Amino acid sequence: MGVRVPRILPQAFHSMGWVRSSVSGTGRWTADGGASTVSEWFRAMVAAATDAMLLLDSEGAIRFINISGEKLFQQRSVSVLGNSVEQLLSMPMPEMSTSPHTVTGLITDAIRLRRQEQLALWGTGADGSSFAAVVSVIPLEDLSEPMALLQVHEFAEEQQREARLRYLTNFDPVTGLPNRALFSDRLRVAAARCARGESGLVLGYFDIDRFKDFNETLGHRAGDDVLCEIAQRIKRHVGDENTLARLNGDEFALLIEGAYAANEVEVFARSLLNAIALPFFIDGHELYVTASIGIAVYDRIGDEAGDLLRKAEIAMYRSKSEGRNNFCCYSSALEGGVPGRLRLEAELHHALERGEFILYYQPLVEISSQRIVGLEALLRWRHPQRGVITPSEFIPVLEESKLIVSVGDWITQEACRFLATLSGDLDRPLRLAVNVSVEQIRHPGFARSVELALAASGLPSSALELELTETMLLDHTAVVHESLAALTQLGIAISVDDFGTGYSSLAYLKRFPVSVLKIDRSFISDVSSEGDDMVIAGAIINMARSLSLGVVVEGVENESQARFLRQWPELIVQGYLFGPPLPEAEARVRWPGIFPA
Ligand code: C2E
Ligand code: MG
Ligand code: MG
Repeated sequence: MGVRVPRILPQAFHSMGWVRSSVSGTGRWTADGGASTVSEWFRAMVAAATDAMLLLDSEGAIRFINISGEKLFQQRSVSVLGNSVEQLLSMPMPEMSTSPHTVTGLITDAIRLRRQEQLALWGTGADGSSFAAVVSVIPLEDLSEPMALLQVHEFAEEQQREARLRYLTNFDPVTGLPNRALFSDRLRVAAARCARGESGLVLGYFDIDRFKDFNETLGHRAGDDVLCEIAQRIKRHVGDENTLARLNGDEFALLIEGAYAANEVEVFARSLLNAIALPFFIDGHELYVTASIGIAVYDRIGDEAGDLLRKAEIAMYRSKSEGRNNFCCYSSALEGGVPGRLRLEAELHHALERGEFILYYQPLVEISSQRIVGLEALLRWRHPQRGVITPSEFIPVLEESKLIVSVGDWITQEACRFLATLSGDLDRPLRLAVNVSVEQIRHPGFARSVELALAASGLPSSALELELTETMLLDHTAVVHESLAALTQLGIAISVDDFGTGYSSLAYLKRFPVSVLKIDRSFISDVSSEGDDMVIAGAIINMARSLSLGVVVEGVENESQARFLRQWPELIVQGYLFGPPLPEAEARVRWPGIFPA
């Protein structure tokens, strides 16, 4: 875009034998050794410079401003000296930006890392007017204290537009990070360096888990805050020498140059996941955000930039399908294993029409009597080539494409039909738990479609229990509120699935009559080792009892977990120990007692 910015090299000051007078603080320069002619030249040069020039200390305070600077910012030198540079310069498009970067931060980083920077910033005049400017930041070395020279070059009118455009072409206005275009550029350069054997390269591809939930529950502004916070956490963890970019939506990419052993990469990835997963507060909500990371390492000549990015993305999808909050390193074995997102979406469109979805049922068992008191319907996709696929691989795509609304309708109808065929041989009616996705509950027709499914099957509404996550219960939008109110009006029970993995603020208990908390399986996975999780699981169970809520403990896999849970005889448990999810035909054989003869 061709904006030429004259540069002054820091060495120029030194080669002329100049140092800053250390005590005056006025920012004037004196000759070292009394070379008064040089001093005059120097002063004349700085005074005549058409670009504004400022000297900043390592805190970002203004220590000197030349005449062009005074003119440009419409400020007398005396009224800016000692003040923060933020008084004169700010990040571009502040109205759009919630960038974690500040001008001071960028400049002090440049000084600390001794890195020259060229920044597109906004200048502010004393009358409040603003203008776009190219600012060259030149760290000055070997002075008595670290400083930076700033050259500020105002853009002409058409250049202003160009600057805005250029900023948007290369940076993401939300996080202030490089965007995909700039990242691809840097990746290309790095890959070329690898090809010449000059360095190694590790590429990380991040996707925030369940970001859509945050965005749509808390609002886009809070969603942006989540993105900025995650960006900052990654940046703090990896340091400024490496390029972190926001590729789009909730996807970030990280470029690390250098050769690392596989185990170093793994240790690093794990520590990065931990740093991301620390709780934080936004708008008074305590949030837990996790990410899935895919990693590709440059390992052979000819690995092109685009190729590496694709490999890291494939690895990211694999780590997502393995349960999120996870990382995965690319290997050729992953090729073909994870179909492209688009192909998956296209296939899912057909799956409903072709009857490829099926429901599995997993028993809910009362721990003391070992009786089956209910069933949870769990979705499966019988893929024509790949066999039976579990929901973690395709539910996110169903949700993103909103296909979940029609698939969800089918799930409720099918589950109600199935339950109506059961004999109820037991001394209490079986309950049927159906998982509901956020996109369904956000759909205005949801409560009505559940009502119709019940009516068609002839089941009473008390037989049905809808499993929602905490995030969904905290969604304050009118449509969600109305759906939930209509469902509870119908007498349908609501249970909180995966309890303990979301907000756990319990604020929603005041708004909706929740019947059951389903404690996430992570809380009892360690019960046998008598760790903290056991204490937490016990505390949640006791708390739920004191609130007269039912409790289901998910993921009970072994006898020692069951032994621990038997302290609460009325507890309902679910897990492989008591029965895996099975398709209808197999369930009939496995649990004949609950089916008609
Ligand atoms: P969820 O609702 O928490 O379901 C429990 C998951 O734990 C199921 O995974 C189940 O197979 C698994 N599980 C059960 N017992 C054990 C155990 O002892 N150990 C371990 N490690 N796992 C156990 P599944 O079927 O893969 O479903 C995963 C998630 O997908 C579900 O978690 C639910 O959030 C979602 N999902 C499943 N079916 C549907 C559906 O019909 N609609 C919607 N919207 N989401 C669904
Ligand atoms: Mg569930
Ligand atoms: Mg669950």
